[in-house]
Amino acid sequence: MARIVMKFGGTSSANTRALRLCAKHIAEQLKTGDEVAVVISAPSGMTAELSKRISEIDEKSKHLDEADLVLSSGEQINAGLLVIILREMGLKARSWNGWQAGLITDDNHGKARLIEARTDELCDSLKAGEVAVMTGFQGVTKEGRVTTLGRGGSDVSAVALAVALRADRCDIYTDVAGVFTADPAIEKNAKLIHELSPEEMLELASSGTKVLHNRSVELAMSEQMPLRVLSTFNPGKGTIIAQGLETHLVSGVTYSRDESQISLMGLSGGIDNMQKLFSALAKKKINIDLVVQSSTRQTDLSNLVFATSRSDHERALDIVSSDVLSGLYQNLNSVKEMAKVSVIGLGLRSQSGMLEIFFRALADANISMHAMATSELRISALIPEHMIESAVKALHFAYGLDKTLT
Ligand code: ADP
Ligand code: ASP
Ligand code: MG
Repeated sequence: MARIVMKFGGTSSANTRALRLCAKHIAEQLKTGDEVAVVISAPSGMTAELSKRISEIDEKSKHLDEADLVLSSGEQINAGLLVIILREMGLKARSWNGWQAGLITDDNHGKARLIEARTDELCDSLKAGEVAVMTGFQGVTKEGRVTTLGRGGSDVSAVALAVALRADRCDIYTDVAGVFTADPAIEKNAKLIHELSPEEMLELASSGTKVLHNRSVELAMSEQMPLRVLSTFNPGKGTIIAQGLETHLVSGVTYSRDESQISLMGLSGGIDNMQKLFSALAKKKINIDLVVQSSTRQTDLSNLVFATSRSDHERALDIVSSDVLSGLYQNLNSVKEMAKVSVIGLGLRSQSGMLEIFFRALADANISMHAMATSELRISALIPEHMIESAVKALHFAYGLDKTLT
């Protein structure tokens, strides 16, 4: 007998028909004699709609604590509905809000982090043969206030519950057959990857592959919790993510639309002034990802281009154009609608020529690259958002990912 946590995402639980399908998978898992805990998301679109409603009355996000109560309500609706379906099928089941299950978080409302899981009571219900259906995405502070874990956070709840229950595996049911070599919504030739190492999956998720939340992969990696990603609508073997599995030279192409660009032309003072700029941004917790610095014809001046996330764009502009810093450069340009495209693979660190393929693919597709970064596992470029689809396709083809048989 194994203990399995099954997580169902928004599309997988969007309506009664979809919820019945989730219930069918749960019943099948129970038939094998396993103990089953379930983590459920809100019906797709509901969290975004609730967020819109909140911003209509709280434009400046001043009431994040109360917003969390509203935002977390979609999961509660689905948990109750799913339990009713399971009971109607003759199964023993009960719902658990994040706070009832004992998922304790810090008080950073809107993107709270889990600090403790007190799941003894939920565990007892599993041992008594009950299916425990927990709301994803929500937790509670030590003071008893409801929190949410950030968009896409039900994956984090699922892995956290699996770790707390010492489950054998956490299965993430979603609307695609598993993790592909690129987003199948963009690249029709993307191939299903059957096995991935946690390191590869973490790099994919951190660079934008939203099929798994990056914090859920981080947690699974540090706690050695095996994950499986598979489709609710047509479950096959899916993708297994676990230690010691086969790794790939290049595992996939990924992208993020959450980027913006700031360019400072004619920056004086070399590295000292660059350091002043970056430390001012860091003090306000603005992350810089992709950077390029180039010299100008005037030898003592340079140009600096860097990327920040879109939500930080205005704040970053305020900082670099402040009285203290605006004297350091001649001109400032900015573009809000940028994107980041990345190639991920364990082979990138050792194989020469990987960077050349990257440059050639983007150049042949006439894609302008504004900044870039490389690491052992990733090559990324900042490009205009409207070019993202062509960039994903060009790189997917250039690295031969359409031919990979995994
Ligand atoms: P859920 O609601 O189940 O949590 P998400 O919308 O968060 O689902 O994630 C699933 C989506 O992730 C898919 O519909 C797919 O378009 C997208 N996606 C992006 N990149 C990939 C990839 N490399 N492999 C699989 N899916 C991907
Ligand atoms: N419902 C939340 C969201 O849409 C959490 C999730 O689905 O993972 O972001
Ligand atoms: Mg998701």
